[in-house]
Amino acid sequence: MSSEAPKAGSNFIRQIIDQDLASGKHDQVHTRFPPEPNGYLHIGHAKSIVLNFGIAQDYQGKCNLRFDDTNPHKENQEFVEAIKTDVRWLGFDWQDRLFFASDYFEQLYQFALELIDQGLAYVCELDAEQTRLYRGTLKEPGRNSPYRERGSGENRDLFQRMRAGEFPDGSKVLRAKIDMASPNINLRDPVLYRIRHGVVHHQTGAQWCLYPMYDYTHPISDALEGVTHSLCTLEFEDHRPFYDWVLAHLSVPCQPQQIEFSRLNLEYTVVSKRKLTQLVSEGHVSGWDDPRMPTLAGLRRRGYTPAAIREFCQRIGVTKAENRVEMGVLENCIRDDLDAKAPRRMAVLRPLKLVIENYPADRLELLEAANHPKDEAQGSRQIAFSREIYIDHDDFVEVAPNKKWKRLVAGGEVRLRNAYVIKCEQVIKDASGTISELRCSYDPATLGANPEGRKIKGVIHWVSASHSLEAEVRLYDRLFNRPNPEQVEEGGDFLDAVNPDSLRILSGCRLEQALAEAQPGEPVQFEREGYFNRDPEPGRLVFNRTVGLRDSWAKIEQEQASA
Ligand code: ATP
Ligand code: MG
Repeated sequence: MSSEAPKAGSNFIRQIIDQDLASGKHDQVHTRFPPEPNGYLHIGHAKSIVLNFGIAQDYQGKCNLRFDDTNPHKENQEFVEAIKTDVRWLGFDWQDRLFFASDYFEQLYQFALELIDQGLAYVCELDAEQTRLYRGTLKEPGRNSPYRERGSGENRDLFQRMRAGEFPDGSKVLRAKIDMASPNINLRDPVLYRIRHGVVHHQTGAQWCLYPMYDYTHPISDALEGVTHSLCTLEFEDHRPFYDWVLAHLSVPCQPQQIEFSRLNLEYTVVSKRKLTQLVSEGHVSGWDDPRMPTLAGLRRRGYTPAAIREFCQRIGVTKAENRVEMGVLENCIRDDLDAKAPRRMAVLRPLKLVIENYPADRLELLEAANHPKDEAQGSRQIAFSREIYIDHDDFVEVAPNKKWKRLVAGGEVRLRNAYVIKCEQVIKDASGTISELRCSYDPATLGANPEGRKIKGVIHWVSASHSLEAEVRLYDRLFNRPNPEQVEEGGDFLDAVNPDSLRILSGCRLEQALAEAQPGEPVQFEREGYFNRDPEPGRLVFNRTVGLRDSWAKIEQEQASA
């Protein structure tokens, strides 16, 4: 391998940074993660967080958390707090560098005066419709605003009076004076400031009625914080000339470099805050932390771990190529993490009563069961065994459907996990013909030992009827039934693709008693069923299925393809 081969986990952005450090352009790396507090963070943001904070960690640099809060209409304190919680939960630390773009409102204003004084900004009084007409199109150049040639003294006076609140909303804006004929529409005298009366900003209150635009705020905020590499998603590529224009014409302390990478899209879900907001506000989900949501809060409640999400971000990498990642990639990350970590437990999701007729009614045994098949350090726990137990309805059929069936059949034998071999002696049905109970016998010589003279192929899980807990279990399916919900037909809507069966609630499930102590955020494996996380709902035992044991999505796709 050549010494120039990229390091594991490397990407084109890290290569640029390596060059900048080698050439002496920078001697320290400084990045930032700049969320707008208008919603909860989603898995796409995780990609950006892991990239920005990860680079800072690996290069012994710094990464700031900066709220891009220039649009007071949609932003609020709940989102600020939720975002801080989620970034910390993912395992990252901004130390003493928590910033708000609104911290810079005064400086941004002074910089605007600097542009005005240089003849590089002017107050424009075209209304929204006129502005649109003057802007031109992709094919046709724009026309100069009739207000473009005002003198800087007049511009300064008007801008100061805009700040003082003398003019109503929409009557005036401050625009950069660049080039109305530029092939890049972002350079056709973009708006720098607009007037917004009567809004209360979550940081600055009612102090301002003049608000800077994002594209103007961002480069200056980066420069004021000493950011070296300003990483953003591809839709900002066409904005980069304006980003550079702002920095080139102002006396800012440094010249950050904007670099774009492709957004993360995930199959069968959406990661646009506008669409996620709609799912919440219209009640398609129970909230931002609904376990079906691709938000970090939703994934956390579902049982995803920070380590699995970080690993996912490593596996998908960072490039400029647009794509949509298969859900299976994310699921494999959580499976790999939980397979190693999650203690094993027994839980019966569709209970069928089973009576062991040759086991005394007054007897109770405490059997020892390992918490993890491969990790002895996780120790063991005791499980109660008694005459009446529950097994899963799906683990019994009267007659085996095929040769592969290894579970219980009428007259057949099966091993109870961590316990004895039992034999089904009698099947009891209710008036409607539904199986309601099994009568069995057990072989006392088979605890931790193979039975004499016969081989038992199947192992099923179970819990004691008297010594088990009742719980609700929630099983989740994909939230949308199209890989790309955003691809809609004429007149359609992404909501048309919402999967009506994405949540299945099983009540009356039975759990082994050790699960009474399960805590949210400490996922467990229900043997043969999948990985589960206790829901934070207080007072009740509710478990969310994080993921099944195998990649059932791939299987569904195969079935659909061959159908
Ligand atoms: P949305 O379109 O969902 O509103 P946004 O880009 O407006 O997303 P911000 O809060 O501004 O949301 O995003 C903060 C940072 O996270 C930005 O740097 C943005 O580029 C990045 N980011 C947002 N969505 C994704 C994504 N899907 N993949 C990668 N990075 C993302
Ligand atoms: Mg944004």
